[in-house]
Amino acid sequence: MIRFGQKYRHFAHNSGCACHNPALAQLSDRMTLDLSRRGFIAGVTTSIAALGLPGFASAQAPSPAAKPTFFTNLRLFDGTGTALRGNVQILVTGSRIAAVDTGNNSAPTDATVIDCGGRVLMPGLIDAHWHSMFAALPVNILLGADAGAINLAASAEAQRTLLRGFTTVRDLGGPAFALKQAIDEGLVAGPRIYPSGAMITATGGHGDLRPLTELPRTSARLSLAEQSGGAAIADSPDEVRLRVREQLMQGASQIKLVAGGGVSSPRAPLDMTTFSEPELRAGIEAAADRGTYVAVHAYAPQAIQRAITAGAQCIEHAHLMDEATAKIIADTGTWLSIQPFLSDADTGVLTGPSRVASLQVFAGTDNAYKLAIKHKLKTAFGSDMLFSAAHAARQGIMLSHLDRWYAAPEILKMATSGNAELLNLSGTRNPYPGRLGVIAKDAYADLLVVDGDPTADIAVIADPAKNLRLVMKDGRVHKNTL
Ligand SMILES: [Zn+2]
Ligand SMILES: [Zn+2]
Repeated sequence: MIRFGQKYRHFAHNSGCACHNPALAQLSDRMTLDLSRRGFIAGVTTSIAALGLPGFASAQAPSPAAKPTFFTNLRLFDGTGTALRGNVQILVTGSRIAAVDTGNNSAPTDATVIDCGGRVLMPGLIDAHWHSMFAALPVNILLGADAGAINLAASAEAQRTLLRGFTTVRDLGGPAFALKQAIDEGLVAGPRIYPSGAMITATGGHGDLRPLTELPRTSARLSLAEQSGGAAIADSPDEVRLRVREQLMQGASQIKLVAGGGVSSPRAPLDMTTFSEPELRAGIEAAADRGTYVAVHAYAPQAIQRAITAGAQCIEHAHLMDEATAKIIADTGTWLSIQPFLSDADTGVLTGPSRVASLQVFAGTDNAYKLAIKHKLKTAFGSDMLFSAAHAARQGIMLSHLDRWYAAPEILKMATSGNAELLNLSGTRNPYPGRLGVIAKDAYADLLVVDGDPTADIAVIADPAKNLRLVMKDGRVHKNTL
């Protein structure tokens, strides 16, 4: 029996990016091995439905939208502008928005009419840095549970993620391929997932958390991490290419490379630069050959600059960047995917070298956002919650943290059409090639109906259980308390 609760809160020790916690690395290993044995990952192109699993059975499960849905009596935040628009109605047919009607037309005769009571209708939110498999799962349970149980728990969290209004997530590490497929096939409820698969790192770098008993590495003795793909370790351009191609073969929509040190890796403090430029370049070229891009984990200026020189199109974190680095990010049009970590409340309390690093991150957050604004960086919002159902539930609170630097409409725009622009970097590997993050004709029908005005007070988003009255994803209603 998997239980979530307060007693596990102290295991939530993410800061910045805790996807490289030793316990998590072991977990990834276990899960991916177990999944591989069952043929899930090897058979990623096989329909999960074809395995004979039953479909939705719960009361909350949506049914396919057989009839059109017509939303009336609403104020529209369309994801692109900053003001609310009145005198508009939305028609959804199948999984898409069929019309944004300003002609005061009557509903199609076969449509389900939803009167929004004058409330705000807006696009579903997008989290650009999420870990679908690890966000809500306490470490001790992750380490002890059967892989099937872990997948079921991640599936339950996926539904909660969706009900918080996040209809799409970009997954920056973890074996989420099977969960993504199950969601896409309607077996379980959850957000659209843009998966990266295993994060790829150099020996001794952030992400290599092998016990020292597994050293030295020899070609005949791969570590558990390397066998499983939970964390892929690479020490030459050729090895990076191999690992990148392995993730893409499993269905990765983008690649995550680890270029520098991190918070939760005692052997790799934040100042450390790990991959060489030729190694980064090899991974970036391998991704580009298959039509997509690399997101590079880097906090410090040197690692960020090297990644950009090698051709990285997105930097994750960057909390320690300086002015010169911000200018390079701006001049190259590189994306900044940063998380508004302010204090232990966002991460749990860390100890030892990780405590030192987390304080460095908290101290850098304000400066990094100010530089992003000053240099007009293409900035994405992500929450990077890990290891705790209580912290995962703060996804909307993390978004509301942005009010220190941005007006509410700007925050909403960043978390909808702005993040969608970043997702489009996946190019021909984009698993959801329609428009996301906007309310517009032909866009995916991912939308929310909200109590209160989030364009005036972003805190509305921080309490989704109370304020989100309707959640629709892919044209299906997952919550409706109107
Ligand atoms: Zn992360
Ligand atoms: Zn990271």
